[in-house]
Amino acid sequence: MHTNRRSFLKLVTAAGGVLAAPRAFTQLGADRSMPVVSPAGYKRIATEEAWGPIEIFREWKRVLDSNPVDEPGFVALWRNLDPTGSTGFTGRLMDLGPNRIAAMDAAGIDIQVLLLTAPGVQVFDADTGTALAADSNDQLAEACRKYPDRYVGMTAVAPQDPRRAAREIERGIKKLGFKGVVINSHTKGEYLSDQKFWDIFEAAEANNAPIYIHPRDPAPDMVKPFVEQDLHRGDLGFGVEVAFHTQAIINAGVFDRFPELKLVIGHGGEGIPYNLYRIDRTYPVRRPDQRSKELPSYYMKKNIFITNSGVAWAPMVLFAQQVLGVDHVLYAMDYPYQYDIEEVHAMDALPISYDDKKKFFQTNAERVFNL
Ligand code: CA
Repeated sequence: MHTNRRSFLKLVTAAGGVLAAPRAFTQLGADRSMPVVSPAGYKRIATEEAWGPIEIFREWKRVLDSNPVDEPGFVALWRNLDPTGSTGFTGRLMDLGPNRIAAMDAAGIDIQVLLLTAPGVQVFDADTGTALAADSNDQLAEACRKYPDRYVGMTAVAPQDPRRAAREIERGIKKLGFKGVVINSHTKGEYLSDQKFWDIFEAAEANNAPIYIHPRDPAPDMVKPFVEQDLHRGDLGFGVEVAFHTQAIINAGVFDRFPELKLVIGHGGEGIPYNLYRIDRTYPVRRPDQRSKELPSYYMKKNIFITNSGVAWAPMVLFAQQVLGVDHVLYAMDYPYQYDIEEVHAMDALPISYDDKKKFFQTNAERVFNL
């Protein structure tokens, strides 16, 4: 047990996740006598929960072994990957069965919204990425059919081929019953602000599918100093990466072209709510080709939703609710990267009204993901 936990934590560190407190694993593994009881009246829907199939981990391993110069952040994060799951952590990511359900039960999580873990298929060539995305979606759909009340699937796509990605979004929503799309931030250093990717936005808007932009290591052209300073993980690099990506999407006029499109970003909005005044304030000096019709805050309050994945911290949630509105802040845990039952208690104890808490844990997710 002790050895397992230590190797698990080591792998979490390698993957760049925030270390979960060891006590959470004690509660999961050894003491299930004190599950978190759902308070009357609201479900807890965790909206940024990770999984991944062995086929993708094996292909990651193959890419890592080739030591690709164009994926320095991926190599820095995952160089110790064990694709078999025998050391525990990839096993937790792969598991969509009773063990995951038991962990959810112990933490009082009613529903997990499941995202293919970063960087997903975005480090592969277009054909490999497209095929493995579809295969992973089929596997996830099967798990969702098995646990229809506990899992909600998000469609994984390979942005390397935007047209096939758009078709996969339609298949995910219409055929597999998924409720959105996951994009693990940059794809080989390119961002969705580039119009060549906009088939993806068109398909997402047409299928009423929110796109969750999940972090990964910063793009190759910016990651070098992050890796040198060991700041390429959840401490800084992930947030910089997604804050950059989100602002690039806003500035490219994506929401003017696709006004019904919804984006979701995690980790307290990756710093954007905290910086929003300054982002708006400096907007007028931006190049005209890098300005949307409205100020960035307009889209943050209309098209973009944030979750508290990895950040079970009342000051952040209260601040984000104040800045973006209570309808734009959703609950997430970040399982299995972060699994700490006491963090669920902390969020239950948020000093907000019952109605706002229900929005945070349940009804905002139901509305954004069309549950
Ligand atoms: Ca995550």
